Amino acid sequence: MTFSYKTALKILPLAFILIISPIWASSKTKPFDFSAAKLPMYSITLKESQQHVNILASEAFQGRATGTEGGFRAAQYIADQFANYNLLPGGKNNQYFQNFEIARPLSPDEDILKTQNIIAMQPGRDPELSKEAVIIGAHFDHLGKKNGKIYFGADDNASGIAGLLEIAEAFSRMPIKPLRTIIFIAFTAEELGLLGSDHYMKNPTFPLRKTVAMINLDMISRNEPNNVTVIGSNRSPGLDALNKAANEEIGLTLEYGGEGYFTRSDQYSFARHDIPVIFYNTKSHKDYHRSTDISEKINPEKIARISRLAFLLAWQVANMNERPVYHPLFKTVKTKGQNDVN
Ligand SMILES: [Zn+2]
Repeated sequence: MTFSYKTALKILPLAFILIISPIWASSKTKPFDFSAAKLPMYSITLKESQQHVNILASEAFQGRATGTEGGFRAAQYIADQFANYNLLPGGKNNQYFQNFEIARPLSPDEDILKTQNIIAMQPGRDPELSKEAVIIGAHFDHLGKKNGKIYFGADDNASGIAGLLEIAEAFSRMPIKPLRTIIFIAFTAEELGLLGSDHYMKNPTFPLRKTVAMINLDMISRNEPNNVTVIGSNRSPGLDALNKAANEEIGLTLEYGGEGYFTRSDQYSFARHDIPVIFYNTKSHKDYHRSTDISEKINPEKIARISRLAFLLAWQVANMNERPVYHPLFKTVKTKGQNDVN
């Protein structure tokens, strides 16, 4: 019989209550203390990461274009997982779906696309700090079908959704919850110009001024097995230092300098409101925005390791006494998103 982290996780809550909780109750977690998160972190697995990608990037989902049946199926799949993890709905009226419509007056097809972000919540355990939240996000939409070909979007961005779901599961399994609230958002319409995250910013379900950081996962399963590009945290030294400390536990090679991607995924919608952001990405490849971006080509171990890093970072940000600060490098131009986004 092999050691099973999942079995250990079932036994863990009792051990925590008996041994660790008196220490925890007396003081807030110190910086860089990842000990309580290390075991739940291993509920993030490469096997489940691959399974989520296989499902979301399968023919049944037809490339998950915004406003299509395949897009809605993906939204329902994500909401079902959040429900399985017993996470609270984070939308209005106790729903996981944040429904809205996108008007496309110049489109040759339909004029109106009906779509939705999917939002879930793990309330924090501290009466005061739980009024603040860390957001973890990934977009679930892709390009759909063109000229009879399905654009499967396995790396872009079934990989990020797999990570988001695995992180959500890990938080749901934690015997002791973080001090601050964690919010999980699967964004729609990113490929149409960050429209899902833009809609969320205009209709936030948690106060923006109480949102302490946003962690984005977009395209996290390709290229060199040990490398991840870190974008946006150069504007928030506190967040960047925590990320480096968390990575001591994971051992990925952190690459910087992806400034050209700063405006090209959903973290930009948050940065424009001066919220500290970090965007994990594993760079472009020859299958980017082509029908050959398929689940057989992804590296599920990479998804799992980057997601474990994001999980440790979120855990730590949610437990710090001080929230990270955003320093804009230059004045951001408040325009609509761009066409050629991730
Ligand atoms: Zn894309």
